[in-house]
Amino acid sequence: MTQKIGVLALQGAVAEHIRSLQAAGAEAVAVKRVEDLEQLDGLVIPGGESTTIGKLMRKYGFIDALRKFHEAGKPLFGTCAGLIVLAKTIQGGEEPHLGLMDMTVVRNAFGRQRESFETELAIQSIDNPVRAVFIRAPLIGEVGSGVEVLSTHNGEIVAAREGTLLAASFHPELTDDYSLHAYFANMVQEAAQVKR
Ligand code: GLN
Repeated sequence: MTQKIGVLALQGAVAEHIRSLQAAGAEAVAVKRVEDLEQLDGLVIPGGESTTIGKLMRKYGFIDALRKFHEAGKPLFGTCAGLIVLAKTIQGGEEPHLGLMDMTVVRNAFGRQRESFETELAIQSIDNPVRAVFIRAPLIGEVGSGVEVLSTHNGEIVAAREGTLLAASFHPELTDDYSLHAYFANMVQEAAQVKR
């Protein structure tokens, strides 16, 4: 059965994630209301601006709803600002948003002169190098013992997984390389099988 994966559509790069998920063979829909979550097996939280996304999530009831979604064993994938939204700790004392993933993130960590850049990354469990676009990207400063580091760039952690949570500093949806979306679709499929 094809898994149905949502893309949180409060702010950010939504259409591109939908296209990449579809290219990876999943069914993908934009999610604007908490009621939409019921029919889903997994959710992507896109990049954008984490403070804005966090505010809108609070306003529309997504914080509690997504904590329950996570408790029900359904996978979440945060990219860029979405990674910040997943983190337990945001460096600098900012209040965490979902606070689910055991890591400390540093916002806008790559410096102004490198606001955005594109590179190829080696990612654990993915055979070919993955094309990655970084835009005012955060990095993962520290991770808890349950977190698996999937990729680093110049020694900094830029992709990680903790059980059903996946996080990437970059925008995998802005290239036609959908291998990380395929990796997530696979996580969603595995999680759905466990539940049955
Ligand atoms: N700099 C943004 C933030 O801190 C993230 C940027 C992005 O998602 N491209 O929320």
